Amino acid sequence: MAKETPQRSGAAAVQPAMYGVPSDPSAFHTLAKPIGPICNLDCTYCFYLHKENFFPKGENFRMSEATLEAFTKQYIEAQDVPEINFAWQGGEPTLLGVEFFRKAVELQKRYAPEGKTITNALQTNGVLLDDEWCAFLKENDVLVGLSIDGPKDVHDKYRYYKDKRSSHDDVMRGLRLLQKHGVRVNSLTCVNRATGSRGREVYRFLRDECNFEHMQFIPIVEKIDFETVAPGTENPGGPDPDDDLLKVTPWTVKPEQFGRFMCAVFDEWARADVGKVFVQTFEQTLAGVLGMPASLCVFSKRCGRALAIEHDGGLFSCDHFVYGDYKLGNIHDKTMRQMAASEQQKKFGNDKFDTLPRYCRTCEFLELCYGECPKNRFIQTPDGEDGLNYLCAGYKIYFAHATPVLAMMAREIREGRPAAGIMRAIQAAEQVEASKASGSATATAAPKPNAKPRPNDQCPCGSGKKFKKCHGA
Ligand code: SF4
Ligand code: SF4
Repeated sequence: MAKETPQRSGAAAVQPAMYGVPSDPSAFHTLAKPIGPICNLDCTYCFYLHKENFFPKGENFRMSEATLEAFTKQYIEAQDVPEINFAWQGGEPTLLGVEFFRKAVELQKRYAPEGKTITNALQTNGVLLDDEWCAFLKENDVLVGLSIDGPKDVHDKYRYYKDKRSSHDDVMRGLRLLQKHGVRVNSLTCVNRATGSRGREVYRFLRDECNFEHMQFIPIVEKIDFETVAPGTENPGGPDPDDDLLKVTPWTVKPEQFGRFMCAVFDEWARADVGKVFVQTFEQTLAGVLGMPASLCVFSKRCGRALAIEHDGGLFSCDHFVYGDYKLGNIHDKTMRQMAASEQQKKFGNDKFDTLPRYCRTCEFLELCYGECPKNRFIQTPDGEDGLNYLCAGYKIYFAHATPVLAMMAREIREGRPAAGIMRAIQAAEQVEASKASGSATATAAPKPNAKPRPNDQCPCGSGKKFKKCHGA
């Protein structure tokens, strides 16, 4: 991600992963960029601002009414599923003004057949939101993703205006307006090298100061040559040092740092917020532990069903692959249905699994990870095979830390009890640790949160029975 995509500029800060992909194999998701890469912020890590260079000088980056209508009609027609989601991103889509989106909703109503539900999501940096915007978003039940990286000093490190002014106060003002109007809003938080060591603080800020109940944490990973070279493309003249950190931008999170960030957030969440706060990554890992497929492309076995459409109708394999080689065509020349079902796109999606190195195929976390996003696969495995994910070491730290607790939650769910029961076990374990520290004799009685309980431990489900006579039976 460059300066601000799924995270950067606010709008661009949304990854295709944010909204997930439809479970029906005949359906697909499309991230719309109706103002291309144009943004009112200049976030350092934005991976999309430089796309401006891909278009001719003087390009009008506003999606025309004809393109909006063709997109709306084709996108709805292409999918034989009951619910279709329009996701708007950028650049910063609010620069288009409310009227553009009123028109979008009007077209959706015109082209949606009886019985189909249309939903909308908008990723924004929030700084332009006002009462008119919020009333529109509420009236049309638009789900808003707000790009915010944490407390002021954390957020302002990389997310600022073109003149380098702080954006944090304006984002918080936008958030309060959304909340005043009762708009559904999730946070989208980028984890970068400057913030990667502040996981607990960032999480507490989002929960306590912002009152978010749904959070996404997105690792910033950008190869040093991302502006001109597509992920997975050979770049013989490019950086090829042994040190993986020299292959990435200085703001790219370090792998282990990202792993520790997620562990810190996980610990804070698991001890008190299960069932109250929903963290996208944890939901995905829990689904995997339960043996269910991930709903986000990055943790799925295959991808290719989260496309991106530019302001001019150009359709690309993915938001992270808006490069010439990954252009499927233009909706004014071919239909979205044709392009989404093309051999080129099928291969793109299948490659996610088919190109995994042996190191991943034999990994104990394969079914939770599937090598994460192909855009991040640019380092070598320990035995020298290409195509390992840059974040691998971090994901291993996170999976190893979280899965024992998630496995206990999974047992709860399978037994028909709320996963939130795990919090009692964790808090009991904390008391044990505190007792141990003070020399109390009761120190061995409670279960440990990150280890499988021993046979005579109290079962973490909160039943009051011994583990061996409850879920350990
Ligand atoms: S390349 Fe695949 S996994 Fe990565 S964001 Fe795109 S669709 Fe998702
Ligand atoms: S944790 Fe690492 S080795 Fe395992 S599947 Fe993910 S990227 Fe591959």
